[in-house]
Parts: sequence; structure tokens; C-alpha cells
Amino acid sequence: MASSGMGHAHLIIIVGAGPAGMAAANLLSKAGHEVVILNRDIKFGGLAEYGIFPSKLKLRGGLRKSYWEIIERPNVHYLGNVSVGRTKDLTIEDLRSLEASALVFATGAQGTKTIGVEGDSATGVYHAKDVVYHFNRLPGFSERPFEMGRQIAVIGVGDVMVDIAHWLIRYKQVEQVTAIARRGPAERKYNPKEIRAICSNIDRAALAQEFARLRPRLEAVGQNPDEILKGMTDEFTKCEPLTSPTKMGFRFLASPRRVLTDAQNRVRGVQIEETKLEPKGQDFAAVGLKEFSEFPCDSVVFAVGDRVDETVGLPYKNGVFVTNPTSTGNDPDDALFQAYDEASGQVIEGVFLTGWARKASEGLVGIAKRDGEWCTEVLVRYLESRPPRERSTNERVLRQLRTMLQARAVQAIDVESLRILEAIEKEQGMARDSIGEFKFPSNELMLTLIQERRERERAPAAR
Ligand SMILES: Cc1cc2nc3c(=O)[nH]c(=O)nc-3n(C[C@H](O)[C@H](O)[C@H](O)COP(=O)(O)OP(=O)(O)OC[C@H]3O[C@@H](n4cnc5c(N)ncnc54)[C@H](O)[C@@H]3O)c2cc1C
Repeated sequence: MASSGMGHAHLIIIVGAGPAGMAAANLLSKAGHEVVILNRDIKFGGLAEYGIFPSKLKLRGGLRKSYWEIIERPNVHYLGNVSVGRTKDLTIEDLRSLEASALVFATGAQGTKTIGVEGDSATGVYHAKDVVYHFNRLPGFSERPFEMGRQIAVIGVGDVMVDIAHWLIRYKQVEQVTAIARRGPAERKYNPKEIRAICSNIDRAALAQEFARLRPRLEAVGQNPDEILKGMTDEFTKCEPLTSPTKMGFRFLASPRRVLTDAQNRVRGVQIEETKLEPKGQDFAAVGLKEFSEFPCDSVVFAVGDRVDETVGLPYKNGVFVTNPTSTGNDPDDALFQAYDEASGQVIEGVFLTGWARKASEGLVGIAKRDGEWCTEVLVRYLESRPPRERSTNERVLRQLRTMLQARAVQAIDVESLRILEAIEKEQGMARDSIGEFKFPSNELMLTLIQERRERERAPAAR
């Protein structure tokens, strides 16, 4: 990527410091531009910090280290604890009024998909992302009680189901976890490597029985149950050692129809409709058979995918922010990343989308990173078409942004404050911690501790 020359550097505001936003910040700052990162959470990393399973210390540590290196750069201005949205610290209109060269939304997919069944607001029904944020200690979720009970139904058979089951097995040590899927075992979605975290707990006899139950319905569409079972169990190699007696099971070709509740509106089970497979293009769809049964459980976790947070204020449709449906012809890829207003039929000038904010639930960290880089390639070509900017213009934008935040009493956390927080957390030590690195549970506590430490450090100099 060509350097734009320090005199004509642009200023780009990136909203969201997950893998996609950090990848964009990396390339843009390397190209010599000024980069402002606004992030809802005090800490950077997004799901790399608050999604990836706590015991994956190496992956999380590696990502954290690479993000530190980026935010320490002199032309990167990190401001955590700043939310953008309709009723948040700053609105999109506020950001646009600042006259940055471009805005990049890398806010991830903060909403959760639901399947909209009766009873899904009962006590004991949870969304997967909330549970994940809880066990990864994201303020706002870390201190909320997540009463799971002994028998848990997880709806979905993707990697997030595996992570939730892993937590229930390893840390909650519950009695039974059952993954429920509308389609069959051949359509399971999790990555074979991920299942290693829980395969020691999978009840093999129960799985064989489940396959016997499914056999006629699988054979009816030309699937071979024996081959599928072998394929599935062949993946149960290199299983992590047993950490609890929890039994892990599967219920396939089962569509949750209703959450069943007791008189106190607490979960007591799920009503399930048996399904069969029907070919649909290259794939299979599940079709209800009108045969219903009750699956008893104490809590239900929906792990059926994510959607973006529409309160951010960008044009939104069907779970995603709207991007330009047609290429402008100026650039082969630009339409993919341009925010688009269907009402006016116009591209929103200078506003770009990347990562899970562009494609909810799309892939692992590597995919989000690549998306951030791809978006940056398009963005850099856009910037090259813009008039050059004076350094003083960028300095003015930064000043105005800080003034705006101060006027609204937003306690933005810069890199220096983050360093202080990291030092305090290290001091608190891993000894107190049962699930990975130590993290303070609330924003208030973090903000207070940072402020106290800063005051203490300033005090001797003042004397
Ligand atoms: C449960 C779970 C487990 C996963 N495990 C793995 C794994 O083991 N390995 C792997 O490679 N991948 C894993 N992934 C996938 C990976 O986390 C994602 O691919 C990646 O984090 C998406 O990056 P992103 O930057 O688009 O969004 P996110 O990581 O979600 O980052 C979004 C950022 O935007 C900020 N933000 C949100 N809204 C606002 C707002 N309104 N204003 C300001 N800032 C905002 C958030 O604070 C956050 O920092 C997992 C995902 C999940 C859900």
C-alpha cells in the first residue's frame, strides 16, 4: 500500500476495536494516516477479548499483544468506553459533523437472532452471546446471575454451542447438556477441531441410540447413518481430558416450538416437533412432522446466530446493515463495504462497514481480520480520490472530538489509562482467578481504579 505522505495524511474514525476494526487501524496507520478508534468497551479486542473461550490463552494473548502494538502507535488515538448510536455517547450525525475523511463501522454483530417461540422470555432462557459475555467477564454481563440448573438445552449445533457446552461442562459442571438441532447430524455446523474441548463428555451410547432413532428419516433422503456416525465420532480424537462427569448429548431433527414454563414463569422444558429432511438446492431443509413431545430441562440457551445492533443508526434490514447493492464502477469491490440508504437510493458518502458489522457471524478471527484489510484496501483507494488534507485539519478534528466527549461527560479511556488498568489487573493476580486471566467485573470499578492510580501518580510531582 502506498504511503500517503505525512503532510496529506487523512483522519479516519473507526468505530469498534474488534479484529476487523483493529485490522483496519493497523493498515491505515501503517500507511501514515491518523486513526481514531472509538470503542464501546473500555478494553479493545471485541470478541477476541470477550468471545473466544477463556482457556484459549495462547490465541487470546497473541491477539492482545498484536492489538497493543497497534494502539501504541503515535498516529493511533484509542478512545474506549465510547459508544456510538442513537441514544449513545455520540450519534452518527455527531461523527459526520466532525469532518473526518471517512468513518468505518466495525461494531460487530451485537444482537442475537431468535427463533421467536412462545415462552422465550421465561426465566432460564438465555441468548448465547449474553452467556459468552458473562463467562468472559464483559462488564454489564459479568455480574448478572445466569442460573442454569442441572439440565440444559442449547439450541444450535455451531461453534458457539460448543463453547457454551464447554463452559457448562468445565466450570458449571452441570448434569446434562443437550444440543438440539432442527436438521440432522450431517448438517452439524461446528468445526471438528472445536469439538475436542467437549468430546470426552459426549455420551457415546446415547449418541448411537439417537442415530438408531434417526435412521429411517436419514435413509429416506439417501443419507447413510452408519457413515455419518463414523464421520462424527472419528472427529472425537485428541479430546481434552475429562474435567467433570457432565453428560453431553445431541437431539437431531428436532425443532423447538415452545419453551414450557412453570407457574413462576421458569423454564421446565422445551416442546419439540420432530422434523424430516427435504432436499433444498445442494442442501437440506427441515420440515415439521406435527409430532410433538416435551424435552425436560432447567434452562435453554439459543445459539442460533447473531444480528447487528440496529440502534447504531445505520440503515438496517433483516439483521444486517445495508450495503450498496451495485458496484459504482469506480472500484471492483467498493460496493461491498459502502453503507447504503435504500430510501434515497444513495451510498452514504465516506461511511464504510467491515467485519461482523458487514456480515454477521461470518467466520473466525482470521476472516474478520481479512475483512478489515479488504475494507481498508477499498478505503485507501477512496481516500486517494479525495482532496489532500492539511495536518492542522486533522488536529482540529481530534480537538473537536475530545471537546464533544468532555461536554457530554464521557469518560473516554485512552492508551495511557489502559496501561494503568492492565498493570492493576496484573497486580490483582491470577491467583484469585478460576477461569483464566483476572478481569474487573464492572466499568465503574475500572474507571475508579484508573482514576485513583492516576491521581496517586500525579501527587508526588505536585508536591
Ligand atoms: C462465542 C464466540 C466464540 C468465538 N471463538 C473464536 C475462536 O475460538 N477463534 C476464532 O478465531 N474466532 C472465534 N470467534 C469469532 C470471532 O470472535 C469473530 O470472528 C470476530 O471477533 C469478529 O470481529 P469484529 O471486529 O467484526 O467484531 P467484534 O469482535 O464483535 O468487535 C466489535 C467491537 O465493536 C465495539 N462496539 C460494538 N458496538 C459499538 C458501538 N455502538 N459503539 C462503539 N463500539 C461498539 C465492541 O465493543 C467491540 O470491541 C468466536 C465468536 C463467538 C461469538
